[in-house]
Amino acid sequence: MTAEQIAENINKIRATLPENVELCAVSKFHPAEDVEAALKAGQVLFGENRVQEAVEKFGLINRDSKRARLHIIGSLQSNKVRKAVLVADCIQSVDRTELVELIEKECNRINKTIQIFFELHTGEDSKSGFSSEEEILALCSRFSAGEFPHVIPAGLMTMAPFTDDESRIRKSFSTLRLLREKINSLYPELPVKELSMGMSGDYKIAVEEGSTIVRIGTAIFGERQYN
Ligand SMILES: *Cc1c(COP(=O)(O)O)cnc(C)c1O
Repeated sequence: MTAEQIAENINKIRATLPENVELCAVSKFHPAEDVEAALKAGQVLFGENRVQEAVEKFGLINRDSKRARLHIIGSLQSNKVRKAVLVADCIQSVDRTELVELIEKECNRINKTIQIFFELHTGEDSKSGFSSEEEILALCSRFSAGEFPHVIPAGLMTMAPFTDDESRIRKSFSTLRLLREKINSLYPELPVKELSMGMSGDYKIAVEEGSTIVRIGTAIFGERQYN
């Protein structure tokens, strides 16, 4: 993709999104110059799957001057948490209790506050995410008790199954929305508000189901080359 095409893709997608839905440009496997092209087009929120790649790529960019923000959206190994909290503004892919404890510990160490989303497993064929809502609710109770002062539970994330069956995709997104409603009624003091759902192939359905952040890679930057 040229810089012009990237800008055009971003503008086209933005034009289809309601005002309250934020576009997260997923730049994994694409070079820093593509991120620069997106920044020039006014894009500020980026998603990366792998911590090391994010550090290398976003280290090249003067993020502060451009108000760029970076979210980690891929499953995070425990030994990468230290680096992840340094580079990221939010970790969307929190999929186990231990990870919250580690994020709190590392943020406490460097005196930083970070946002997280709880990732819920809603599609039968995807593997990532908490498999039970109960675990997320138990964590909410601990947040409510003040156990994680450096971590802000700001939302929920999910990936829909890869399928042509629109009803299954829709079900996955509505499951996430219902969980947010449950959390908001049980723990109104927690700021759990964002619904990160929808990718290049299914974001229109996600928006209909109440998404507040869509994570789009291919439709902005083109196909990824995985080697
Ligand atoms: C790669 C990725 C995306 C973007 O997917 P596209 O289909 O390229 O838009 C979104 N979310 C997650 C978690 C991803 O890993």
